[in-house]
Amino acid sequence: DRTVNAGRLAADGELDANLRPRSLADFIGQAKVREQLELVLRGAQGRGGTPDHILLSGPPGLGKTSLAMIIASELGSAIRVTSGPALERAGDLAAMLSNLIEGDVLFIDEIHRIARPAEEMLYLAMEDFRVDVVVGKGPGATSIPLDVAPFTLVGATTRSGALTSPLRDRFGFTAHMEFYETDELVAVLARSARILGIALDDDAAVEVAGRSRGTPRIANRLLRRVRDYAEVRGTGEVTLPIARAALTVYDVDGRGLDRLDRAVLSALVQGFGGGPVGVSTLAVAVGEEPATVEEVCEPFLVRAGLIARTPRGRVATAAAWHHLGLVPPADALS
Ligand code: ADP
Repeated sequence: DRTVNAGRLAADGELDANLRPRSLADFIGQAKVREQLELVLRGAQGRGGTPDHILLSGPPGLGKTSLAMIIASELGSAIRVTSGPALERAGDLAAMLSNLIEGDVLFIDEIHRIARPAEEMLYLAMEDFRVDVVVGKGPGATSIPLDVAPFTLVGATTRSGALTSPLRDRFGFTAHMEFYETDELVAVLARSARILGIALDDDAAVEVAGRSRGTPRIANRLLRRVRDYAEVRGTGEVTLPIARAALTVYDVDGRGLDRLDRAVLSALVQGFGGGPVGVSTLAVAVGEEPATVEEVCEPFLVRAGLIARTPRGRVATAAAWHHLGLVPPADALS
């Protein structure tokens, strides 16, 4: 149901693949991360070694997977892709590690969800390029040391705070990805429109960008929805009135909040008098997983200045009350 959210749908997966930036130069925005990463990669290349392990941290849809692929291609290396939830047993990870060749990039998405035994194996692999594989069970079990080819681990996480500190400490560089500014999303949209052959007016691009929750994946998704509308109800050209009408159909409001964002906001304001309230209570109130509310909705609502995190819980700001067409109480945070 989250048409405009960052969850991955199969069809959008293909779309994402076409639109993925292929090089650092092609990657829009995140100037700071790009500069830092360029230094890490060029430095290692100059020394003829493999770069330190890299952690990419930030909300969904900001380009972590794209950057992982770019890292591999900038290094001229192969990339092996897996994810935290797929590494349930240490043996799953041992199999991946033992197949690496020197210089490979191993990408682990959602690395904060890796199971404990696999995580412990990963420590040793990251630090010493070695794993101990345990064979057998009980008193007869033996541990066989295996060498792993020097590789670069690229981990991606929406919750760097959920990483254990031994794991976090083994990354030589952490890239903190920020939400994109509107002009950066305009550039993302212009690039995508060019690739997809969509006639997108400048002011329509600004409108769609402003409603994309600071997230390129959402910008691309909205672009497709707006294109559908333009082709079915108009001439195919995406103009400002067409973009506005399409976004209304898809329940994306003037600030880019979608239905779940608004549900969270109105639960906070109307259900809990503006807070403070814990994030899991809010999640129950809107019938969503706490992780979705915490990792997808909350970062954006905080960035938009609609909710604030306080030691006692989440609080609605005056802007949140106004956004819902309500008068804030006198003591509301501004
Ligand atoms: P994440 O792994 O952080 O969830 P992805 O790397 O899968 O995000 O990015 C989602 C999509 O957004 C990509 O397929 C790409 O189309 C687009 N995208 C993300 N970042 C950028 C960027 N900096 N420039 C252009 N497109 C981007």
